[in-house]
Amino acid sequence: MSIDTPRFRAALLEERERIEKALESLRDEEVEEPAAGDNHLAETATATLDREIDDTLEENSMRVLVEIDAALARVDAGTYGACANCGGAIQAERLEAYPWASLCIDCKREAERG
Ligand SMILES: [Zn+2]
Repeated sequence: MSIDTPRFRAALLEERERIEKALESLRDEEVEEPAAGDNHLAETATATLDREIDDTLEENSMRVLVEIDAALARVDAGTYGACANCGGAIQAERLEAYPWASLCIDCKREAERG
């Protein structure tokens, strides 16, 4: 198997940094929210919706961060690119799109189905 792990390692570190910055700015925004009581109802609803979107973003970002760390550990362990479920090779194009993928596309689909 010929996976260019140094390149994926760099991509993982880059993505990790990007997500951490995004999380930081999400948290900054939360701090700057106006105090309750200052808002008209419509504005409050918008703020609530914004916060829900932020929370979802934050949740997804945190999940990806965990997966990136796991992928970096696999790079160090020399198991990067192998499916965590069936042990087969994860498709190269899948790794290009999701460098932190731990399952091959077949196992991923299986997991989502079931
Ligand atoms: Zn698999």
